[in-house]
Amino acid sequence: MLATVARRIAEALDVWECDLCEYYADTETIVAAACWARQMTPEDYAWVGTRMSLSERPTYRRVVLAREYSEAYADDEVKDAVDGGLMDQWGELATLAVPLVFEDTVIGSFTLIEKERIRRFSEADKRRASLLSIPAAVAIHRARMYRQEEEQNRQLASLLDSSRALTSAVVLEEVLDTVCRKAARALDTDECVIYEYDTGRDAMVYLAKYSPAGDESGSDVLGTVYPLEEYPSDRVILSRGEVVEESLSDENLPADVRDSMEQGGELSCLNVPLIYDCEPVGILVLNSTTRERHFGPPETELARGLGEQAAVAIRHAQLYRRQERGNKRLLALLETSRVLAASLDAETVLAEMLGEVAELFAVPKDAVGIALRDPTGEFRPFTRAEDAGAPSEPAADPLELDKLQRRVVAQRSPAQDRNGDSARLLMPLVLDDVAEGLIEVRAPRADRLSDEEVGLVQLLTAQAAAAMVNARLYQTLEQQAITDGLTGLYNHRHFYERLAQECARTQRYQLPLSLLMLDIDDFKRFNDRFGHRVGDLVLAEVGRILSSQLRRGVDLAARYGGEEFVVLLPNTPQDSARVVGDRLLREMARVDPGGVDLPPEQAAGARTVGERIRQSIATADLAAVCNDGGDDDTHVTVSVGIAAFPGSGSDPNELVRAADKALYLAKRLGKNRVEVYRA
Ligand code: GH3
Ligand code: MG
Ligand code: MG
Repeated sequence: MLATVARRIAEALDVWECDLCEYYADTETIVAAACWARQMTPEDYAWVGTRMSLSERPTYRRVVLAREYSEAYADDEVKDAVDGGLMDQWGELATLAVPLVFEDTVIGSFTLIEKERIRRFSEADKRRASLLSIPAAVAIHRARMYRQEEEQNRQLASLLDSSRALTSAVVLEEVLDTVCRKAARALDTDECVIYEYDTGRDAMVYLAKYSPAGDESGSDVLGTVYPLEEYPSDRVILSRGEVVEESLSDENLPADVRDSMEQGGELSCLNVPLIYDCEPVGILVLNSTTRERHFGPPETELARGLGEQAAVAIRHAQLYRRQERGNKRLLALLETSRVLAASLDAETVLAEMLGEVAELFAVPKDAVGIALRDPTGEFRPFTRAEDAGAPSEPAADPLELDKLQRRVVAQRSPAQDRNGDSARLLMPLVLDDVAEGLIEVRAPRADRLSDEEVGLVQLLTAQAAAAMVNARLYQTLEQQAITDGLTGLYNHRHFYERLAQECARTQRYQLPLSLLMLDIDDFKRFNDRFGHRVGDLVLAEVGRILSSQLRRGVDLAARYGGEEFVVLLPNTPQDSARVVGDRLLREMARVDPGGVDLPPEQAAGARTVGERIRQSIATADLAAVCNDGGDDDTHVTVSVGIAAFPGSGSDPNELVRAADKALYLAKRLGKNRVEVYRA
């Protein structure tokens, strides 16, 4: 693909050759990515893939660091020692190197090369090269993304594969049983026990036991966990890696060992640390319960040898278990990617991610928190409304971020710390280079979360962020589709959709619904006087005044047509006079499941609302909007028609017609007034 780009550029500028390079800022190197020449030589082919250090190539250095165009000609008086030499060596007569910039970062360069004649690059050539550098930069960026994705897929696939080759848990049990049996018999002891060292819980886990007498005594069951805090001597054995012999008669026996030996009825013990690859994975213990005894060097060696087998088996089982967990996570991750990619609203994306992270760490959902930045820059906890139709909860209070949280937000990189027996992971949710959110996980862990675990959360978060960007884009598009561009009010189409919904709701719950229809008075004249453009500004201002007089989230204002507006007032009777009082209103609010308890001043009837709107528009001085310093009258007035549902009509269209008739009446009766529909 990149070779095609190189060819296009060469042909468009009519040069012998075009080379494309990628720039890696982290290593300060340039890699030859593609080459196209009228006649490709074996050297040209071999050159692709070559890595060059910026320090060795001053021309590239100038191009990618200073973003300069760099031209050189065979007959230049002064030549760069290195690049000039290379020009001669390659038979290049004229070269022009151009930086490739993607999203304000240099990601490579291309070089135009002439080998047949010394051709001068003109200003027009450079302009054309600059234009071509844009698609070339995009192509290099795409190639990089593609390679990254390939690499990720390859890693996922190999992880899934390798697990199959590992020893299973069943095999572990068999191996450990065998080791116990062999050890107990070979050293003639009454009992052999194997413990696994669980680094995560900082404890010993009882894994296997064999006693030749078939003795099943002892309260311990396989799987019992012994915190190392209570058994400091075991910790010493693990860390020293040396075989330790203990006898109950030994006066210097540590207290924890004496207690445990007395409890188990043991007289002598031989403790063999199980080491794999220099790391302790467990302890094998041979117990003598019938007599106190001493273990000689050959016996100790034998026990150590058997311990090695156990160590290998335990280590493999650990890897296998981790792999299994990893596989489950990877599968969940793939599934999540699918869900996230398909989700179109940000809430779903976040809820999905929250659930996924909780599952990843096997913690309840409330151990995972998400905070989102609000428009003022404060972080507030994200909670998802249980039911999409429910009235929206008041926003939670802003969070006071602690030091680590602030750091994560500022640096946009994850961090973790510990608190008691739990590990806390903080992960920023980065959208368009800004930390728009913060994910916090608390997992009961004795040690830090592994890089692998952090990486998985990071991957999930990155996916959620990408999905949220999409969701936002979609939301914007959706919002645009229902909004009137000039006034920011809803448009005609959306008004009719909501009207139908509100009418249905009104009928179901026997609630009043009112509709106002407004038309600006003598707007033709206004336009004639101030011009259409000022007329547009006034329309936007009227829209703003209109919204300011309404209950947010309850009433709906829309631009119905040119200079006509409609307002839907749910839960609002036509006339205040008809309201029997507060009580009835409350009654109504109760019946309505999505009902709001209206404060008295909002309980006004539609006529009052219409009158209020009319007045606030009539009294608004639009001089600023009209940019008029003179004596012109810079006011507009509106006429308002009101109809109510039910009563004025039995379906949405009838309601609109009734309001229109009332509006016509208001116009006929002298304009700048409110009229209610009369049949
Ligand atoms: P009245 O309503 O009081 O009877 O008189 P009017 O002059 O307002 O008459 P009508 O409502 O029929 O006229 C609509 C006028 O509004 C026509 C046009 O000049 C103006 N108008 C309609 N849409 C727009 C718009 O989008 N921008 C501007 N600037 N003017 C508009
Ligand atoms: Mg009109
Ligand atoms: Mg009008």
